[in-house]
Amino acid sequence: MSRSGIHAPTLADAGQTPVSALSGVGPKVAEKLTARGLATIGDLWLHLPRQYEDRTHVTPIRHLRGGVPAQIEGTVEAVEKGFRRRPMLRVAISDGSGGTLVLRFFHFRAAQVAQLAVGTRLCCFGTPRPGQQGLEIVHPSYRVLDDDAMTVLDDRLDPVYPAIEGVGPQMLRRLVGQALDRLPGDAALELLPGDALESLGMPTLRDALLYVHRPPSDADMAMLASGRHPAQRRLVLEEMLAHHLSLRRQRIALQAHRAPALRPGTLAAALQASLPFALTGAQSRVHRELLIDLARRKPMLRLVQGDVGSGKTVVAALAAAAAIDGGRQAALMAPTELLAEQHAQNLRAWFEPLGVRVAWLAGKVTGRARAAVLADIASGATPLVVGTHALMQASVAFHDLALAIVDEQHRFGVHQRLALRDKGAGGDRVPHQLVMTATPIPRTLAMSAYADLDVSAIDELPPGRTPVQTVVLSSERRPALIERIRHACADGRQAYWVCTLIDDSDEVVAQAAQTTFEQLSAALPELRVALVHGRMKPAAKQDAMRAFKQGAVDLLVATTVIEVGVDVPNASLMVIENAERLGLAQLHQLRGRVGRGSAASSCVLLYQAPLSRMARERLDTMRTTSDGFVIAEKDLALRGPGELLGTRQTGLAEFRLADLARDADLLPDVHRIGDAMLVAQPALADRVVSRWIGSATRYAAA
Ligand code: ADP
Ligand code: MG
Repeated sequence: MSRSGIHAPTLADAGQTPVSALSGVGPKVAEKLTARGLATIGDLWLHLPRQYEDRTHVTPIRHLRGGVPAQIEGTVEAVEKGFRRRPMLRVAISDGSGGTLVLRFFHFRAAQVAQLAVGTRLCCFGTPRPGQQGLEIVHPSYRVLDDDAMTVLDDRLDPVYPAIEGVGPQMLRRLVGQALDRLPGDAALELLPGDALESLGMPTLRDALLYVHRPPSDADMAMLASGRHPAQRRLVLEEMLAHHLSLRRQRIALQAHRAPALRPGTLAAALQASLPFALTGAQSRVHRELLIDLARRKPMLRLVQGDVGSGKTVVAALAAAAAIDGGRQAALMAPTELLAEQHAQNLRAWFEPLGVRVAWLAGKVTGRARAAVLADIASGATPLVVGTHALMQASVAFHDLALAIVDEQHRFGVHQRLALRDKGAGGDRVPHQLVMTATPIPRTLAMSAYADLDVSAIDELPPGRTPVQTVVLSSERRPALIERIRHACADGRQAYWVCTLIDDSDEVVAQAAQTTFEQLSAALPELRVALVHGRMKPAAKQDAMRAFKQGAVDLLVATTVIEVGVDVPNASLMVIENAERLGLAQLHQLRGRVGRGSAASSCVLLYQAPLSRMARERLDTMRTTSDGFVIAEKDLALRGPGELLGTRQTGLAEFRLADLARDADLLPDVHRIGDAMLVAQPALADRVVSRWIGSATRYAAA
């Protein structure tokens, strides 16, 4: 029988059964599981072990090796409870093989201490590491053995699942087991063409799931640990395929719409002629790419990525000019008021001398002023509109929006981008869309994450910029650094001092910035110091930024609110506190605030010792390169794409299994299989998407 849609109901029944159908799952457990995205039996199939415990044999203590997980059987010889710096429990066990092993606990209950009395026999599992006195295992899983009981050996490897709060590991293992018992046969489950799987040497979905959840005792552990076992690759392939198909379908849906063909005319020519600089080669190339898209009757959906300072705004302005030349409107939306205001200033400086009015709309534009702006947008009197999220409000109606530009789009969700686009929709017509980002996306990721967009890169900075010199300093050197700021500012330079905390709460970060502001103001009484943080009123924030921009402030103490797009060419020194806590992309964004003028600039990354290996590598990367694309590749390798892109940027659920840094080599197969499927079996493609992405497909209507 063919594998096309016929079996859909069977699959739907098996995989989409709610977890509450499993025995032992009451409303409480169901709620805990659902909170972690495990709502159905199909979700449990895809909740893969993060590691395995080999309980097929017991290792004598004498044979233990550091770093190699093992199951051990032994008798408690000594127990020591300490509370010096923090509570700690050390339990020494031996097994007659001539060795002693220390079990170490940092969290423990009184009942546990009572249980682990001298003479107790234990079976435990964990990874030994060298400790003060030979090998030790921190927080092993263990079980007390009856006096003469033997450890029961398993005949396969025990999966260890990512923990779910409120659902114990044993329970979780049991539930996944029950879910697997309900796995339908290949005929109902398999969606990928058999010949493709065969040529890739990959098992069917059913076999892959059974293998990954219940590997046989002779499984290649090293390969499983690397995530590159054919069974794992099989699952990753289908997940990546689902994402690819979902994005392709969005693109196909968009292409079914029409858009106004826009051609540059006298305004575009006048704008280009009036610019005080010549476009860089990269800007010209991207400009041409945009004009080709805009001249079509199909809606453009193009991402322009370019490092901070690469000059994206002027390219967007030239595209807007083409829309205005066609007698229509263009809108530019930015994620913060500060940034939107800066765009408004730039666009006014460029367009108003040419007789084009620029409307400004933000939350703080209220009352009569707002009514007037809205009226001008609705009548078409202002062909160019700049603003914040306020542009997406229901009260904003355009006369004829032909081009929607979204800056720093990763700050917006996809639906917000679409909300602006919908302002220009009418009948089957939608406006062209241009999205801009300064977060460079590595090529592999762009191919996968943006299969619905065309991507252009401005990969060249305007001439005359001097690279930012980056130094990494321990926070103990703070006093010397303060002296350095004193001297730099005495020379007429300006500086940023960026306060960061791992804490997401605006309030805590604002408090830390306030404290730093007070300390620096006291230490540098001759300087004009100002403060900007997310908890300030927008007007106060603007005032401080404006003062800094105009040179009335020497030192700006700020939280990461200054991250996006702010342009102060005279600022040539930046200090970033707790730099070890930030990701590469964010550090790069922040550093991009300096080095915008012609003065030599520097960036000081302050860290709190000790540094983790990852943090050291990140800071080293920052020190040795300023190329956003190189940094993005490194970021991808260091922490994976989940954080880099996140759901907000792609508009999709994050990958459950795939890791693009590891699995990018599957992309050509994903594209080949996916594109063939869209042509020959679109119904099958739908099922792949809904199996893996489910609710996120509501964007498919985009
Ligand atoms: P970003 O890509 O970060 O948004 P901007 O568009 O803000 O960069 O441009 C940064 C600065 O560079 C602005 O002051 C802009 O006027 C200037 N600029 C843009 N293009 C050029 C160019 N080709 N030559 C010189 N300066 C340029
Ligand atoms: Mg910008």
